[in-house]
Amino acid sequence: MKIKRRKTRKIFVGNVAIGGRAPVSVQSMTKTQTTDVEATVAQILALTAEGCEIVRVAVPDEGSAAVLPEIRSHINIPLIADIHFSKKLAFKVMEAGVDGLRINPGNISAEKELKEIFREAEKSKTAVRIGVNAGSLDRNLLKKYKHPTAGALVESAMRVVRIAERCGFESLKLSLKASDVLTTIEAYRKVSQKLDYPLHIGVTEAGGLRSGSVRSSVGLGILLAEGIGDTLRVSLAADPVEEVKVGWEILGSLGIRQRGPIVIACPTCGRCGVDLFKVVKEIEERIKAVNVPIKVAVMGCVVNGPGEAKEADFGIALGRGGGLIFHKGEIVGKAKADHLAGELLGKIFKYVEDKEKNAVKTRQNMLITRSCRKKIV
Ligand code: SF4
Repeated sequence: MKIKRRKTRKIFVGNVAIGGRAPVSVQSMTKTQTTDVEATVAQILALTAEGCEIVRVAVPDEGSAAVLPEIRSHINIPLIADIHFSKKLAFKVMEAGVDGLRINPGNISAEKELKEIFREAEKSKTAVRIGVNAGSLDRNLLKKYKHPTAGALVESAMRVVRIAERCGFESLKLSLKASDVLTTIEAYRKVSQKLDYPLHIGVTEAGGLRSGSVRSSVGLGILLAEGIGDTLRVSLAADPVEEVKVGWEILGSLGIRQRGPIVIACPTCGRCGVDLFKVVKEIEERIKAVNVPIKVAVMGCVVNGPGEAKEADFGIALGRGGGLIFHKGEIVGKAKADHLAGELLGKIFKYVEDKEKNAVKTRQNMLITRSCRKKIV
């Protein structure tokens, strides 16, 4: 099954395209005090290394706004400032040259203020996310709907979108997050039927590492499978690097995007005669830095083992005391259990090395062809 993505407008946050045919991007938010430049930059670099493509920082005061140019000078992914309550801070961060701005219509709601922000964003070419959150919904809407329902979230976003449009500002993306998974899904479904602005999807305040990952995977997985979502953030009460890892796992599990290897492993049962968890751990650890998208199957016995291992790029199917190694459906090796992981890893690294060499050759050939064409012209 191939997911058919909903068609949205394309905008840019710095050099990252969002919406249209652009790949679904993975973003995160720092958890440091923004004014602690060293810690914030270190966290952003750690996030970038894990595949974070856009980063947001909290800007609760002028001190935080003032350090943004310094932070930006040390990082190489687009920087978004998270603004609440203060129009003045929105102006400050645009002046500081951020790539994007997140505003919350629950706490900056006056039409006059919003218009001023959108006009300035248009001038400074800053993308804006209208970030509606169930926990900070506009008071009037809360009175009208009694609870932060999906309808209330959509109405909040629509109101601000119309204000932006009246200013001629269209570099918008929207988010409508609730901590309740079903409300989140309903809100995004509803808004995607009404508007074609790109959507930043996420389940807000999803929880700790395990519960938050599951809740986010359910919510974002359903939306993405329906073609909804142009960029995502997994919100976890945990190290933000985990948010990025989970984000990529969600995309990879739906076949939307893959970063590095996917390891599939059987859960084991009474048929498994070896310590499969140890083998899986070793393989995952050793190939985690591989940048080539490959699928590796680690299976515990001959029931599903050969079938799964054959479908993956690489696989091992263990039996009692040893097992077979597969590559693209062919048996390419056999080893005793203790040596199987090592043998498999050797073959994977050789494959990755060849792929990387070929990629370099292709790039060189393209450059040569281009320069020849120029000479002929
Ligand atoms: Fe059990 Fe074999 Fe299935 Fe693994 S592949 S869960 S060992 S039956």
